[in-house]
Amino acid sequence: MAYDSDNIFAKILRGEIPCKAVYEDSYALAFHDIAPAAPVHVLVIPKGAFTSFADFMARAAADEVQGFFAAVAKVAAQENGTADFRLISNNGAEAGQTVPHFHVHILAGKPMGHLLAD
Ligand code: AMP
Repeated sequence: MAYDSDNIFAKILRGEIPCKAVYEDSYALAFHDIAPAAPVHVLVIPKGAFTSFADFMARAAADEVQGFFAAVAKVAAQENGTADFRLISNNGAEAGQTVPHFHVHILAGKPMGHLLAD
């Protein structure tokens, strides 16, 4: 799938629409999910134009991959301390991906249950 530079996270990266940012560095931006599914629900997105986890791992440079996942770890610690948390990345429509810019959800603050809800 070609990257759509009009997707909502691309617009957030360009500053065209606002977000509640909690962290930013040269590799990643993290912000509160607009429809939180848990008391802690933060999205972490890479600065580069990647549609999905698979696209990111296929095309990103090693420093982008390392920098992005280091940012995920920093944000989890910053927003949730040492408490337990869940990472989710929906890869493609069947998996539930609705925004075609790679992102990782950090979810915490309530019991999550095991894997899929239904
Ligand atoms: P996914 O369904 O895995 O692609 O996740 C997309 C997430 O983006 C959903 O949890 C949405 O609530 C969230 N979302 C959509 N638009 C915005 C926005 N403008 N700011 C913050 N989060 C958003």
